Amino acid sequence: MQSRRDQFFPNTEVLGKDEMRITALGTGRPFLRPAQANAGWLVELGNGDKFQFDFGYGTQTNFGALEIPYQQMTAYFATHLHTDHVGDFAQIWIGSWTGGRTKPLEVHGPSGPLEKYGMKHFVTKQMESYAWDTDTRVGLLPAVGAEVNVHEFDYSKVHVVYDRNGVKVTSFPAVHIYDGAVSLRLDWNGLSFVYSGDTTPSYFFVENAKNADVVVHETFNTKDQLMSRSGYDERSAIGIGSIAHSDPVEAGKVFEMVDPRLAVAYHFFNDFDTAPEMEAAIRTHYQGPLALARDMMVFNVTKEEILTRMAVTSAHVWPNKENREGFKNARRAERMAMSRWLADRQIFPKF
Ligand SMILES: [Zn+2]
Ligand SMILES: [Zn+2]
Repeated sequence: MQSRRDQFFPNTEVLGKDEMRITALGTGRPFLRPAQANAGWLVELGNGDKFQFDFGYGTQTNFGALEIPYQQMTAYFATHLHTDHVGDFAQIWIGSWTGGRTKPLEVHGPSGPLEKYGMKHFVTKQMESYAWDTDTRVGLLPAVGAEVNVHEFDYSKVHVVYDRNGVKVTSFPAVHIYDGAVSLRLDWNGLSFVYSGDTTPSYFFVENAKNADVVVHETFNTKDQLMSRSGYDERSAIGIGSIAHSDPVEAGKVFEMVDPRLAVAYHFFNDFDTAPEMEAAIRTHYQGPLALARDMMVFNVTKEEILTRMAVTSAHVWPNKENREGFKNARRAERMAMSRWLADRQIFPKF
């Protein structure tokens, strides 16, 4: 670890060969607010690989602020098909393309008990519905950028779903309202990151998160907070906060059973007046190292230590301009031809 600065400034630190860097791209709840996007986690490895786990709404705004070339992203993984986990699909696809990606997008995600609940169906239908978008762009941008390789894997098994370049990603079932959701674990170079997605406390999670370095587990706000701050009645608060999700006492129990090097709680509105109650609830069971996630929290992980900081970024960010030769030289498709009557009304004729 090179830097001992108190904040993380993008593109000022070389990631060590043995180091893992995890960035919280989105830590909030299904409705968006400026402070917290929907769910998303970036994992960068010392071997050059970069993965994003979940791509909920708003996560790509935060990703952009990190000034990482889109071309450098290795693959995207989804835990399940709730909008707060996959709502930014159009951004990881089209946004990254206009921002410099010149290879197909690689998307991994779970199957469902029916075909219509699986990742393949989701991506195919999203792509179909954006036909006007991609057909109008392929003549102007590298045509290959419109392509998506979908890798759908069985949601119901505990199995390795990605194994390349020394990186293993294991999927295991999450218990979240209905069949089809998964949690994911990444192992590389003796370091590991486990991400619950959405789940109620489960033995699947405890068994598969064992011996992990950084364990990110969901928890919604406390029942009182959901009622007083979100305006839910008691039945709704219980349904949302602990039938569909883990409440903070329950999440703390999971952390206690897993006993990670660092526990990270996310998926709640983390404010000065909610955090103390959240932490107290988690501490009912768990006394170990804990971070209450906020967007753009950065974790540098090595065998020796885990350093937690906040990223300092620009709001007026532009795409990273490294290695644009590929973009310049990539093949374009034939441009769409608009109707003559429409083209003839141009003040500066381009078509
Ligand atoms: Zn969900
Ligand atoms: Zn969620």
